[in-house]
Amino acid sequence: MVGLQQQKNLSEQASRMSTQCPFCSVQCKMEVIEEQAGDRKTFRVLPVYNPASQGRLCIKGVYGHQHALHPDRVLYPMRKVNGEFVRISWPDALELIREQFTQIQQEDGLDALGVYGAATVTNEVAYLLGKFARVALKTKYIDYNGRYCMSAAASAGMKAFGMDRGLTMELTDIPYSQCIILAGTNIAECQPTLIPYFTKAKENGCYIIIIDPRETGTTKLADLHLKVKPGMDAALVNGLLKVIWEEGYSDPSFIAERTKGFEELKEHLSTIDLDDIEEITGIPVEQIQQAARLFGQSKTGMVFTARGVEQHTDGHMIVRNFMNLSLITGKIGKKGSGYGAITGQGNGQGAREQGHKADQLPGYRSIEDPDHRAYIAKVWGVHEKDIPGKGVSAYEMLEKVHQKEITGLFVMCSNPVVSSPNASLVEEGLNNLKFLVVVDLFVSESARMADLILPASSYLENEGTMTNVEGRVTWRPGSRECPGEAKHDWQILCEMARVLGKEKHFSFSSAGEIFNELRVASRGGIADYYGITYDRIKQEDGVYWPCPSLDHPGEGRLFEKTFANPDGKAEIIAVANHFPKEQTDENFPLYLTTGRVMYHYLTGVQTRRSPSLKAREKESFLEIHPNTANKFGIEDAILVKVESRRGSMVVRSKVTESIREDTVFLPMHWGDLQNVNKLTHQELDPVCKMPGFKVCAVRVGPLNK
Ligand code: SF4
Repeated sequence: MVGLQQQKNLSEQASRMSTQCPFCSVQCKMEVIEEQAGDRKTFRVLPVYNPASQGRLCIKGVYGHQHALHPDRVLYPMRKVNGEFVRISWPDALELIREQFTQIQQEDGLDALGVYGAATVTNEVAYLLGKFARVALKTKYIDYNGRYCMSAAASAGMKAFGMDRGLTMELTDIPYSQCIILAGTNIAECQPTLIPYFTKAKENGCYIIIIDPRETGTTKLADLHLKVKPGMDAALVNGLLKVIWEEGYSDPSFIAERTKGFEELKEHLSTIDLDDIEEITGIPVEQIQQAARLFGQSKTGMVFTARGVEQHTDGHMIVRNFMNLSLITGKIGKKGSGYGAITGQGNGQGAREQGHKADQLPGYRSIEDPDHRAYIAKVWGVHEKDIPGKGVSAYEMLEKVHQKEITGLFVMCSNPVVSSPNASLVEEGLNNLKFLVVVDLFVSESARMADLILPASSYLENEGTMTNVEGRVTWRPGSRECPGEAKHDWQILCEMARVLGKEKHFSFSSAGEIFNELRVASRGGIADYYGITYDRIKQEDGVYWPCPSLDHPGEGRLFEKTFANPDGKAEIIAVANHFPKEQTDENFPLYLTTGRVMYHYLTGVQTRRSPSLKAREKESFLEIHPNTANKFGIEDAILVKVESRRGSMVVRSKVTESIREDTVFLPMHWGDLQNVNKLTHQELDPVCKMPGFKVCAVRVGPLNK
């Protein structure tokens, strides 16, 4: 029992850190309370209300601070000398960067340097990193790990709606929906605090249709679960569209007034045979009809997708087909209706808007559009011709590393050696670099390979804005000093720019100053932040973009009157029944699909350092159906070898009826021997360059046969 006096002492010695969880796009707000009682320091976490999380936190948020306070944090710049990391000073680290980057560019050309970013950084850092690559390094090679996350939904939204924003509606619209399709999204484990929106919708009578090859925490919500064959989502949607069209559930006036391209889709649907769809998707015709009727007959409806249907070599077109569902039924731009791509990474939305991608400048401007280049050149104070052209996507950049076309790489808060497909090739490439700099909180699998590691700041330390799943810009205070000699990510970039002779373009003294430049850079672009200020975000608990002026309220629900394409119309497109690039055969008879689990985030570098999270899922596992396990001599909880055409890994089996018999599942959060991306293939979507993480062919067997 803690007595009154003791309680008083505790609260007197408590320090409260206001922050928001870094682990997904809900960006739940919280307070981390640090208390000192004698020698003992304890931490409590309290949820704080914000409009998206509504005062909820999931377990990752509750224990997130454990990684930020972990003794493994990188505290000083560290240089590799004879295979060992040794502490060096910041001036020495910066001088080493200047020397190595200059030498590489003199020997191999300006584009021999690559910059690899992350969708976990703040908007300010994403903006600055894009500017750093183009202005300080003058390289065209910059891309980021969001390419592996949101690129299919982003490119599809741009084409179909003229705008890429995760949700076209507000989260609070969800309970007003009468039918919701959740495709390839495991919200219950990846964004758990969103679940009450869906349970509220169900209480209001909403039907929930879930499309997923596995049973997950989320499929428990389903009124109808379509356990589709991995990668056959576009074909399944063709079946749904056909029934909706032929049975008269489409919205002809919406199609006529608000869309274009329907005639081609109609023609395409006339060639679709539902029996064929049943055969290639594994979903019986009756279930396809039932789903189409439920969605088609509802007055309001929403479609949500996530990585399950997006991380494919035809991810762009799969998403376009799901968007077709919203468009031909007119279920978008009104209360209770809309389309949503559930963003995974903490700042998956904002980090892709600020010029962090190979082909984009801030505000979603195109790096190939002369007017856009001229505008940004003016903001940056450089000549338009000095802004490099379009680079290549994340994986293509790593291929260029492998081909020794890129010989120096700067990696910011990312772990490409675990998160990239065909990871062995990526590892080989990084090993060949003349100079690799990694900025991170920990010595990740990628940082281990670096010549120089720079200590980054965690979510408790780093002030800045992030943009949540709805397109709401939120502000996160820096509530703790950086430990050791760690610096804010933006400070690291400014100091590097200074030693590279570009100080005048990077003379920022706070995140707020960077945000003010970002606002101007985004002004007039698709993602227009001009009207958003730190003060407004604090006063209004976040502000939606687009927000073109200081008196603009920000737009929560998009497309009520017009779409963002130049003619104001949404684009419908006919989508073929694509098959995954890699198919099974007698040597590799099973589909492998990959994904997340509740307790971990991305490659697990942070969550595996949170003891409370690690204890709940300490190693990877192979989910396999009992019949399949039986066929391959696999018992529950034994070590199994999983092999693909590219590599192998060893993992413990989890025999469960929750997965299709032709499919096995592996999570993505572990490196080294349990790196699932040693198995995945390198084929990319031709439009958005998303790798096909979600399907490859494997064989499995007991390790000790
Ligand atoms: Fe909220 Fe997502 Fe963090 Fe969970 S992981 S606390 S849902 S932000």
